[in-house]
Order: sequence, then structure tokens, then C-alpha cells
Amino acid sequence: MIYCDHAATAPLCPEAREAMRPYLSFAANPSALYSAARDASYAVKKAREQVAACIGARPEEIYFTSCGTEADNWAVKGCARKVLAGWGARRLVLSAIEHPAVTETCLSLAPLGFETVLLPVDPMGLVARASLEEALIGGAALVSVMAANNEIGTLEPIRELCALAHEKGVPFHTDAVQAVGHIPVDVEKWGVDLLSASGHKFSAPRGTGFLYIRKGFALPPLLSGGGQERGMRSGTENVAGIVGLAAALTARVKQMEKDAAALDKMRARILEGLRDRGVDFRVNGAPDALPGFLSLSFRDMDGEMLLHRLDLKGVLVSTGSACHAGKETVSPVIRAIGVPEAYEKGTLRLTLGPENTMEEAECLLQALVEAVR
Ligand SMILES: *Cc1c(COP(=O)(O)O)cnc(C)c1O
Repeated sequence: MIYCDHAATAPLCPEAREAMRPYLSFAANPSALYSAARDASYAVKKAREQVAACIGARPEEIYFTSCGTEADNWAVKGCARKVLAGWGARRLVLSAIEHPAVTETCLSLAPLGFETVLLPVDPMGLVARASLEEALIGGAALVSVMAANNEIGTLEPIRELCALAHEKGVPFHTDAVQAVGHIPVDVEKWGVDLLSASGHKFSAPRGTGFLYIRKGFALPPLLSGGGQERGMRSGTENVAGIVGLAAALTARVKQMEKDAAALDKMRARILEGLRDRGVDFRVNGAPDALPGFLSLSFRDMDGEMLLHRLDLKGVLVSTGSACHAGKETVSPVIRAIGVPEAYEKGTLRLTLGPENTMEEAECLLQALVEAVR
């Protein structure tokens, strides 16, 4: 099997497996009073420090969650609640290509009077400064733009967009689920107030994630209860998961440059191979996309049919976002970037990961050429 769907989920890395092992059979409740609880609570504290160091944050700015979707919901609904409790425009501004965890969450607030404004993107998938400026006339509760898109891999100009939102006094959230552990992320440099991440997208176990909340930014708590996560997200800590998340992220950040260079080589090889064999296709997204990320649209093809043909050859890919697969023929992201009609239905997303090899990239290329023919 050749697994090329890392944007959907990445296999658990050995570093995370090893770090979690002691806590899988027994992890005391960190809130208990005996010494074993101090060990568990120390493990969570250490994990928080490791995660903070990986994104340029302070440990007290990291709040562990159960997934990226939870972090996104917390950011959006928290900012909406702030407006409901005080004053300000009931408007949520996001890019037209956000993950459903952000888009659907914003739309779910319509009954409370919130208007969702979608910022258009250019053919590369980039949000323009001018469209954000226009959307912010009259204010907003939040601007949310993803750091890296999950269907085309495009990296958004977060620092610039965030500065613009702040000029208007509007908080800024970025869904960095595809970025964290894949490209350098520095919350200080970007200046964001809120940032979401998900463990299983960077080789940590599923059911883990975190929300970065800038120190001094008053976000209402997500879950009330026993007061875990400094009263912000109650619920007994997933000690093994948290330790695994920190170990995986630390390992990925350490290897990031090396991995990116290898992934870029595989990506280039696949593109070159397809062109050499005269396959009629286009590359979606910006050329400097996420490492190992390929969104391709093949002329007069059906993406789902290609996916199944590749599956039969043991090559696992996606037609786009796993969250959209099977729902619609053409994803809203592919629509938003304006892929020509002859190509839009023939879209495949190949996302390579650090454990893929050049030999696998060659096999993928061969299988792809055969599937298209
Ligand atoms: C996968 C993904 C999510 C959701 O993360 P989960 O941990 O699966 O809930 C959110 N945003 C983006 C961009 C994603 O790729």
C-alpha cells in the first residue's frame, strides 16, 4: 500500500508511540493528590512547554482540545459570545475556502443574528487584502483565515491579513491545522490572537488538538466543569494523547526542513513525469504550496473514478477534502478558485508525508498515468 492522503490523516510516528506508551496502560488523573498524579500532571506541563516552543508561544497560551474541529468551534463561538455579551458587529469574516469546521460553525450562528461574509480568493486560492478591507467596514466579531488550505495547499498571507484586522480592532483567528508541523509557524511573527491545530495531521494520535490563545485575549471558556486547562476547557486530561501530540510535533519540527526538501523533490518528480508522458492536467493552488501537496485536475476525467482505479493498484489518494468526499462532485474550494469546467470534475489530491519514499513516488506516478489512460 502506498499512502498518499496525509492531509486527511497522518500515520502515528514512532516518537509519539514511544512517548505515549507509559501513559496508555496507566495515567493517573492529573487532579488527584497522590504522587502518580503529580507525574501525570508534570507530563502534561512538559507537553505544553514543548508545543509552545514549536510555535513561538508561551506555555500558558496553549489549551489542549480533542481535535482541530473543537479548537475552531471554540475560537469562532467564543468571539461570537463576546459580541453577544458586549457590543460590536454581528459579522464573521472568513475566506471562501475555509474548512467546514470554520464555515459551518459561522453559519450555525445565523439564528443569533450573525452574518457570515466570505472573502473571495484568486485562482491560486489567495485572499486579497482589498477584499478584507472592504468586508471590515462596519466592524466584525472575528476574521478567520486558514494558514494553509486543506484541498489545494495554498499558504495565506496571515501576517498581512492579521495586521489589517487589528488596524480595525477586529480579532484574528487562523485555522493552522494543515500548517502546524509542516511549515514554520510563529504566532509572534504572525500576530494572531487565536490559532487552531490538530494532532493527527502531524503524525500524533487522533482525538488530540490545541487552541493557542494569545495572552491577554479574553476568550470565554469552552467547557465548564472541574476547571481543567486553567478553567477554560474542563474535562479530565487525555494524558497519553497530549504527550503523543507534543512528541510528534517536536519530532516533525526538528525534521521539517529535511522532510520538506525530500517532499518537494517527490512532488517535482511526479509533475515532471506526468508532463513527459503528455498527460493533460493542471496544478491547482499556488506553486509554493505545502510540502508534498499536489492538487491536480485531469481534463475530461472523473476524480472519483481515478481514485478507485488507484485504490485497486494499492495507491491511496483523495478527491479533495475528506469532509466533502462523496457529498458533491465539485468541491466549493475547486469552484472558488475557478478551475475550468473541462478539468474541475477530474480533481485528485495527493498529499505525501515524511515516510513516503522516492520509489513510492515513482509507483504513484506510474499508477496515475495508467489510471488516466
Ligand atoms: C482536518 C482539518 C480540520 C479538522 O481537524 P480534526 O482534528 O479532524 O477535527 C480543520 N481544519 C483543517 C484545515 C483541516 O485540514
